Amino acid sequence: MTDAPISNARKPKDPQRFIGNHQLDPSTLMMGHGFDPALSEGSLKPPIFLTSTFVFETAAEGKRFFEGITGKREGSGGRAEGLVYSRFNGPNQEILEDRLAIWEDAESALSFSSGMTAISSLVLALASQGDVIVHSGPLYSASESLIDKIMARFGVTYVDFPAGASREELDAVLAKAKEMASASGGKVALIYLESPANPTNALVDVEAVHAARAAAFGEGDLPPIAIDNTFLGPLWAKPLRQGADISVYSLTKYVGGHSDLVAGALVGNKAVLDKVRLIRNPMGGILDPNTAWMLLRSLETLELRMSRAGENAEKVCAFLRDHPKVEKVGYLGFLEPGSAQRDIYDRHCLGAGSTFSLYLKGGEAEAFRFLDALRIAKLAVSLGGTETLASAPAAMTHLSVPDERRAALGISDNLVRISIGVEKAEDLIADFAHALAAV
Ligand SMILES: *Cc1c(COP(=O)(O)O)cnc(C)c1O
Repeated sequence: MTDAPISNARKPKDPQRFIGNHQLDPSTLMMGHGFDPALSEGSLKPPIFLTSTFVFETAAEGKRFFEGITGKREGSGGRAEGLVYSRFNGPNQEILEDRLAIWEDAESALSFSSGMTAISSLVLALASQGDVIVHSGPLYSASESLIDKIMARFGVTYVDFPAGASREELDAVLAKAKEMASASGGKVALIYLESPANPTNALVDVEAVHAARAAAFGEGDLPPIAIDNTFLGPLWAKPLRQGADISVYSLTKYVGGHSDLVAGALVGNKAVLDKVRLIRNPMGGILDPNTAWMLLRSLETLELRMSRAGENAEKVCAFLRDHPKVEKVGYLGFLEPGSAQRDIYDRHCLGAGSTFSLYLKGGEAEAFRFLDALRIAKLAVSLGGTETLASAPAAMTHLSVPDERRAALGISDNLVRISIGVEKAEDLIADFAHALAAV
């Protein structure tokens, strides 16, 4: 890691995270941080608070809490001093949010009913009529629909750039966005990134985006930089360190990690998240207590699961790369030394992840024969679970993408997307070897 600019999205030293001068690792803090058993009959684990509403001690307290929720109290950011109503807050959600923030040393965090609820709440909180959103491409398809199509109905336009863009391209796209915003009487509301892009695996240079923003907008009211960190976060990428303001998560993937829940989160700059909370309170979209509790359990093994999946992927990719029926393996661990993408990887990433692209020799028939022959790996979309999944993007997740755009993104018929789980690596290699023999 280089000396990255310290974003104000990061929290100053938190004394709870130290024993003397020793800083505790996030993985250790996942077992108890933010929960006091004495408040719950000595229960070691947090109970699930299945209640729609909370009792106030006095009428004056109820008023004070509502002044926080509604933003009537200056600087509350929609946060009440106590528990009010389960669309606003709850103990399980608050413990989860505190623990999520720890992984990125973030000032604040918010949880949502899905990754897309998190993303749409972020966009709605920041963009108004006449505004422009700048985004990297390609994005997760629902994110792209939200920004490019749904927001257009509310007079919000966008301009995009390819994920691997250079500083010069970034400068040009920000200049264009400023021009568009001034022509439509609005502002550049948000710089929205996704890295690595799916399925191209192209990494965004967040440090370059941060520097380009400073050059384009100076010191004033800067458009926040948000980045979808679902594929590498929170273990293998911590983009707040490179100058992002908000790290966006579909907790459905690696954080949940067992393919048994849907949830999302925003982690980072408090001032930005205060604006989002003031939208989440009236609109809804907060995570439910039961799923928040499941995520607390998931977080206890996050580091174990992600580490094992990452080690497995490294072994599996090394096997696949040399196989005669394989054309190419698009895995972050294989980026060419000296390339621009490798340079970004070295500055931004702490690991290569466990989701990658396998290009077989041949086309759809070969990809389908491979997928149909798998026995351990399951044929399903999604990623980041304990089990290995494989799918064919051209025939499945990206079926509706127009041919031309599909070609530009390298989504060919011979592409298989694979998310490696926590099984024994040797068993996965045996499964892939057997399936390749069947191609
Ligand atoms: C799955 C996913 C989302 C959407 O998350 P949901 O929890 O399904 O709403 C957003 N971004 C990326 C990169 C994803 O993989």
